[in-house]
Amino acid sequence: MTKRDKFLPFHLPCIGREEIEEVTDTLRSGWLTTGPKTKRFEDMFKGYIGTKYALGLNSCTAGLHLSLVASGIGKGDEVVTSPITFPATANVILHQGAMPVFADVRPDNLNIDPDKIEELVTPHTKAIIPVHFAGHPCDMDSIMDIAKRHNLVVVEDAAHALESEYNGKKIGSIGDFTSFSFYATKNITTGEGGMLTTDNDKLIDKIRILSLHGISKDAWKRYGVEGFAHWENYYAGYKYNMFDIQAAIGLQQFKRIDMFLEKRKRYAAMYNDAFMDMPEIALLQEIGDIKHAHHLYVIIIRTEKLSAARDRILGEIQKNNIGVGVHFRALHKQPLYKEISGYNKYVLPNAEYASDRVISLPLYPKMTEYDVTDTIKAVKAGIQAFCKKYY
Ligand SMILES: *Cc1c(COP(=O)(O)O)cnc(C)c1O
Repeated sequence: MTKRDKFLPFHLPCIGREEIEEVTDTLRSGWLTTGPKTKRFEDMFKGYIGTKYALGLNSCTAGLHLSLVASGIGKGDEVVTSPITFPATANVILHQGAMPVFADVRPDNLNIDPDKIEELVTPHTKAIIPVHFAGHPCDMDSIMDIAKRHNLVVVEDAAHALESEYNGKKIGSIGDFTSFSFYATKNITTGEGGMLTTDNDKLIDKIRILSLHGISKDAWKRYGVEGFAHWENYYAGYKYNMFDIQAAIGLQQFKRIDMFLEKRKRYAAMYNDAFMDMPEIALLQEIGDIKHAHHLYVIIIRTEKLSAARDRILGEIQKNNIGVGVHFRALHKQPLYKEISGYNKYVLPNAEYASDRVISLPLYPKMTEYDVTDTIKAVKAGIQAFCKKYY
């Protein structure tokens, strides 16, 4: 009854004729790597966010890492971040030989709690990486205030937050550096890809150079109309550049940002209406003057009211042919971070509560309202299997 005929994947990208034609055009053009389309995509992006600079990269992770490298974060430094995030957010801190320090999240939107950040600041603290979880902006006024008072760099993980706004300002235009993701499941995709935004005049050149081997000029300019120019090697840089096949997809995806968001927003509202009155489910809240990017639709299963843990309920939903996800199991409970000495000391009650209870439901423009309705039915059936109440 509740089981669909066909499995509904947790996510499907929305790739159309426009993307395919733009990629084909790139393939025929003879210029495949970083070039004119990457430049056009960067220009569109910085116009959209309203920053001086946007740098195309091969991932959001690369943008987070380069921000730390350029800011001189290294051995002995501490960087405060959220435990409710994808491993990349904290791994880049370790890449620099610095220590991730996890601050607990707010229970109502699972974003990092500024009061908890403040408690963890030591003389070693050099940066904060807030994560705009699911597309809900963090409390940036409080975070920027802490950063200012303690002289910390703010690197925003905006993997979920392409369209997000905080007090009328676009995410990407507030902290020192912001990194966006175009991974296959994100709000827009280039397959793999990322974009770094900043207004920092002093560091943008260094970051750009670091993103392509640490050499002074990219190939496009070296062999272009301006004639031959030698490159110079300044840093032991990285291979993080975006290339034109990615940018081709991005240029076309970019045109549909608003349409994509409109659909996700409508589906999120349908989910909210359906689950609002269920005591077994806690919904995430929208707090303050914000625009939500609705990257993920996350519910918190109040398993204390049920006779099974999250994974059993999740399995039940999947059995009804609905693909679901878990965003995220708390990082400080992962083997890597438990192993690093001192990490067992962490008591982060809100993160741990959510870690064992979150389920993400399908939310993407390729879905139909029927798919949303099927998902709602499957969630209700999954919960009903382990409680007395009938839905
Ligand atoms: C997806 C994701 C990343 C990593 O993005 P990539 O583009 O794959 O590097 C980082 N942080 C969060 C919160 C994410 O969801």
